[in-house]
Amino acid sequence: MNDLLIEKVKGKEKPYVESLRKLLGRFRSPFVSGDSVGIKLHWGERANKGYLPPDYAKEIAAWLIADGAKPFLFDTTVLYSGGRRTAEDSLKTAANHGYTSDFLRCPILIADGMDGREVVDIPSGYRHFKTVQVGSVFDKASGFVIFSHFKGHMVSGFGGSIKNISMGFASRAQKQRMHADYHPVLDPGKCTCCGICVNVCPTKAAGISEHDYPDYDLKKCIGCAQCIAMCPELALRIFWNSDITVFQEKLVETAAAVWKKIRGKTIVINALLNITTECDCLPGKHPIIGEDFGFIGGFHPVVLDEESLAMTGTDIFEKAHPGVPWQRQFSYAREIGFTDTANKEKIE
Ligand code: SF4
Ligand code: SF4
Repeated sequence: MNDLLIEKVKGKEKPYVESLRKLLGRFRSPFVSGDSVGIKLHWGERANKGYLPPDYAKEIAAWLIADGAKPFLFDTTVLYSGGRRTAEDSLKTAANHGYTSDFLRCPILIADGMDGREVVDIPSGYRHFKTVQVGSVFDKASGFVIFSHFKGHMVSGFGGSIKNISMGFASRAQKQRMHADYHPVLDPGKCTCCGICVNVCPTKAAGISEHDYPDYDLKKCIGCAQCIAMCPELALRIFWNSDITVFQEKLVETAAAVWKKIRGKTIVINALLNITTECDCLPGKHPIIGEDFGFIGGFHPVVLDEESLAMTGTDIFEKAHPGVPWQRQFSYAREIGFTDTANKEKIE
């Protein structure tokens, strides 16, 4: 696609800051001096080993500062227990991963506030959501850089720009609305009754009694999938209460609603580096399933993710997460008009 910028990193040394600098230098920046610009990224869950190092965020911040803009970095709190459930914990996790204001030379915020209540409902009007609720960040920024680590994901197949704008901006309530359609199912033949799923469950839906298998109270379960992700024996699988495609549609609807608010003065960049099977939300070291391709940038998240998949190939994600209908993200985006590129800026 000729409306995207690509910088390949083959044969270069990590971190690939020089390549990102070149990519940024080729953008015709939509930002002007004095603009406050939010850089949205994921700094990795506590004990996750696959997240992107802070060097790239620092480079983006420096690029913005050089043009007189005022960048800040942000993320939102999450549903599951771990190092990002509260704003305080999330900022600590960021710092442990090297994401500090001193290093980045810009502030770091939690968009839904230190108490998770700084949220705003924005219009959606699609099939599943009339409104979507996201972190209150729009009044803090006049533009955005959406910087996404492109990798696998348990329920969306892959995660890139669409997911970063959707789940990444969503309040905890909105995350729950997107995740509400599935719950865990146990394979007793594999379960060793270790109790890890019980310990990580944020709502106490998972319980276990001595000499027994765990069970899951579906009235309390919020479908966060943390138990499934953390089970060392792969004894839990996802049971979809509705068609699995509904999650893909909800993900896209949330992204589309956010995009209506931020398009025009937003650039999107995917880092096709350290492509792991799982998302950076999960602790641990996850298998790498693709080579380091480089950076790809543009002005539309759907276009960017489609081209990213064309570069990596889809087979690596289908093998890691068989049966996930990730294609629905693109067909649904087209159905609801999220692929509108009328306001696309000229890149070079
Ligand atoms: S984490 Fe897995 S193996 Fe351990 S009790 Fe839960 S289901 Fe069983
Ligand atoms: S039982 Fe439900 S709420 Fe608890 S960790 Fe599993 S998916 Fe999340």
